[in-house]
Amino acid sequence: MQSDRLANCTICGKLYLREHTDYCLDCFKDMEREFKIITDFLKIEENRCASIEEVSTFTDVAVKRIADFIRDGRIYVEDFPNLGYGCAHCGTLIQRQMLCAGCFEEFTSEVNKTLKADKLLEGLNKPDEPAQAARYWKLRN
Ligand SMILES: [Zn+2]
Ligand SMILES: [Zn+2]
Repeated sequence: MQSDRLANCTICGKLYLREHTDYCLDCFKDMEREFKIITDFLKIEENRCASIEEVSTFTDVAVKRIADFIRDGRIYVEDFPNLGYGCAHCGTLIQRQMLCAGCFEEFTSEVNKTLKADKLLEGLNKPDEPAQAARYWKLRN
């Protein structure tokens, strides 16, 4: 029985035999074809400053697909200053991760605040230092 290897393609939804990818062979071929179109397009010197929308318009490849290539690190954005996708939170153009630096900082400081608040509460319930020191001496003797 090999039915456990059958899965729905995450792109077209078609049932396929799952090997190494989350999509069927047709979609894989399609994706590789689109990837080649994009890299060929970006190889041209004048296209190096193109935005993701411009690349999409010229190559007929969906913006989302190009963003996936960037996020997966298949396109080296260091070479393409304007190529990026929207921050998941505010939509600012970014080239890595899911959030822009501002949103990331805001998010982490929120998390830190929560953590600090937790620590503070924890501290209130903790026995004070002398008790701990006494336990330490007891263990040593
Ligand atoms: Zn498919
Ligand atoms: Zn943002």
